[in-house]
Amino acid sequence: MEFKNTLAFAQDLDKKDTLGKYRNAFTFPKVNSKEVIYFTGNSLGLQPKRSREFVDEIMTDWAELGVEGHFYADKPWWDYHERLIKPLCKVVGAFPEEVTVMNTLSINLHLLMVSFYTPSPKRFKIICEEKAFPSDQYMLQSQVRFHGFKAEDAIVEVKKREGEHFWRTEDIIAKIEEVGDELALVLIGGVNYYNGQVMDMGAITKAGKVVGANVGWDLAHAVGNVELKLHDWNADFAAWCSYKYMNSGPGNASGVFIHKRHLNKKDIPRFEGWWGTKKEERFLMKPEFDPMETADAWQISNPPILSMAPYLASLELFEEVGMDALIEKRNRITAYLEFILKEIDNEVDSSFEIITPKDRGCQLSVFLHGEGKGIFNYLMDNGVITDWREQNVIRLAPAPFYCSYVDMYQFGQILKEGILKK
Ligand SMILES: *Cc1c(COP(=O)(O)O)cnc(C)c1O
Repeated sequence: MEFKNTLAFAQDLDKKDTLGKYRNAFTFPKVNSKEVIYFTGNSLGLQPKRSREFVDEIMTDWAELGVEGHFYADKPWWDYHERLIKPLCKVVGAFPEEVTVMNTLSINLHLLMVSFYTPSPKRFKIICEEKAFPSDQYMLQSQVRFHGFKAEDAIVEVKKREGEHFWRTEDIIAKIEEVGDELALVLIGGVNYYNGQVMDMGAITKAGKVVGANVGWDLAHAVGNVELKLHDWNADFAAWCSYKYMNSGPGNASGVFIHKRHLNKKDIPRFEGWWGTKKEERFLMKPEFDPMETADAWQISNPPILSMAPYLASLELFEEVGMDALIEKRNRITAYLEFILKEIDNEVDSSFEIITPKDRGCQLSVFLHGEGKGIFNYLMDNGVITDWREQNVIRLAPAPFYCSYVDMYQFGQILKEGILKK
């Protein structure tokens, strides 16, 4: 499609946008009493209006039923989280028994490593990407130390090539082959938080399995953003947070995938609690743990229902719209944003460099070579919420659920003003 940097053209794209009506299903923050242009759905998704209703329902049930809400609420609490599974399976490409919802992301990665990082003196290494999200780095370092290894011996980082801003799949696969039978685990972000790159999760998982390693994915920036086929890719496990593209609310619960082949095993290393034991017998309070036949076997505590409620509300929206439609709009709106950036760059003769590679989801990371943090502050003051990373990178994620083409056009105009005023 041939784009134009005009208001009329952007309005026309909005008119033809079949997801346009969903903008009104979300609440936008305001700056100077105007709704913002929101580019940080990759950090905290906006609030779906219906989530308040879902939370209110729990508050009312709790007020009116007390403990009886566990069994007699309209949506009983004891298996409330199971309502999230079916819509989530479609988002991540899994069978219902392979998915559960529990805890938060970093905690779940630790718990999954208890099961899937069981190093021996010979096979103890972990491959990850260089400069992984800090929480992932701390997690990996503390896990290898816990098992008595040194981080510098056990953690192998795949680097980008000199002068390049992205990882090459062939370099990741070559590293997997090189580490070979010393490799215990591959654990990488499916979509990199910094440059927005989508990893070739199918090819990397396959390479890891060939050398006999376990392969897990941190899907914080991938879930609700890109197509996922966790089962078919044959990943061992994955986990994600739900407050980024999934719009479930700040710090909300994480989701977990565990491949079918690891289910129904009593002897798998795992930290266990009462919510992982067979639900039919859970309240018999028996001393032996009899694991659920699903990923629920990894559940430890009874889930926080007040968190599950807005997550469920958001999943209803995903169920209604479907990933295919979201991905189609994502591709177009991100391409339009890229076009706008290039137009403005020409008009003001600055030098923006989009460091996000072709394999991308929603996010564009833009190196503002000529500009400093002043431009980021100018955007914020003028109702454009972006996010700033050292050095001179702004990350722009036009979430297809609620961002409009007119937002992209107006962003371009504000950016241009900001640079010219400097
Ligand atoms: C956002 C994000 C996290 C956050 O972890 P929490 O445990 O939810 O605080 C972890 N890893 C990556 C890659 C992320 O992008």
